[in-house]
Amino acid sequence: MIAAAALCLLAGLVPPAASMDVAGRALVQVAIVRQAESSTLVAAGAIRVVLPDGKRRPLEWEGPLSLTPRVGGLKLADLRLPTETRLEPQEGASIKVGADAHRGTLILRLDPGQTVTVIEEISLEEYLEGVLPHEMDPDWPLEALKAQAVVARTFAYANMGKFRKDGFDLTADTRSQVYRGVTAVNENVRSAVRQTRGEVLGWRGELLHVYYHSCCGGRTEDVAQAWGGDPKQTPRPLRGVKDPWCQGTPNHSWRAYFTWSDLMSAIQEKVGLPGPLSSLKIAHRDAAGYVLSFAARAGRRTVSVRSSDLRHSLGAGELKSTKIRRLVPKKKGVEFIGGGSGHGVGLCQWGTKVQALKGRSYDKILLFYFPGSVLSVVTQ
Ligand SMILES: [Zn+2]
Repeated sequence: MIAAAALCLLAGLVPPAASMDVAGRALVQVAIVRQAESSTLVAAGAIRVVLPDGKRRPLEWEGPLSLTPRVGGLKLADLRLPTETRLEPQEGASIKVGADAHRGTLILRLDPGQTVTVIEEISLEEYLEGVLPHEMDPDWPLEALKAQAVVARTFAYANMGKFRKDGFDLTADTRSQVYRGVTAVNENVRSAVRQTRGEVLGWRGELLHVYYHSCCGGRTEDVAQAWGGDPKQTPRPLRGVKDPWCQGTPNHSWRAYFTWSDLMSAIQEKVGLPGPLSSLKIAHRDAAGYVLSFAARAGRRTVSVRSSDLRHSLGAGELKSTKIRRLVPKKKGVEFIGGGSGHGVGLCQWGTKVQALKGRSYDKILLFYFPGSVLSVVTQ
């Protein structure tokens, strides 16, 4: 446990949350259904509907409620509602949307294209409970989940309002962080969020824009190398570190085989090839070992192929990362020998798990992956 005195306060340096609840807690608005033709809601417990004049009335309905657009508003089962309507689950109640149960206020909204969007408004700390089990195994050691809670919280604050023009703060998918309400939340997850309440990573008095990934394969990546930018400008905590901790974990080293025909069609999704593909070589790689581009020989020409494009076309699950150590040409295809899983920037989750199993605390793990950063507390 880190002493409270060692925590620095990041007052007023974080982007403002959407709003606050009566207890002064930061609220976040997450889109859980976007521009759908319809959605099905199932209420469990007492739910109140907020009417346009601000009056609340109980939602009395058993079984699934179908939410659909109508001209000039929304329809929920046989209720005709205005273009934006709030549903408030009371203490202990929840609303299932699709497969997931939600305890926050749901904002039902009619989109301009006659589709429906469902946004959940929830306190940021409860939101994190709904993120953690889908971004890390909820049965991993507590210190690993606490490190994940701090990076997920820092990420959420840093991206707060990113989708404001669409009418909410964050999406519930990988464009933000995967969020699925109270589904899969366990005591381990609740403890990890509670024991790190309000804690974020700062750098020079500001919020650090953090990232995380599954496994770095031995060295984490410089953020500027991963997404463009001048590496000289990279803040020290995001330059990448040598990571001995994830060695021996499932995706630290891997082999993947692709036929010439798979490779050719993947390359052609992005670049035209003047003839059949006859060879593929690594052209450039960065200091952390990630391949930046390949040289593809086709006909009489050599074409440059960006590794991120090739990974995208082959599928991120098929080619786990662009950290490719060697290519081994075979008769009918190429074997890729590589390491790691994901983009490699920031916290390495498998390395985090191993550090936690060896008894290292979450603050030490965070300072290992983000050297020079300061564990801070958000005050609003
Ligand atoms: Zn690692």
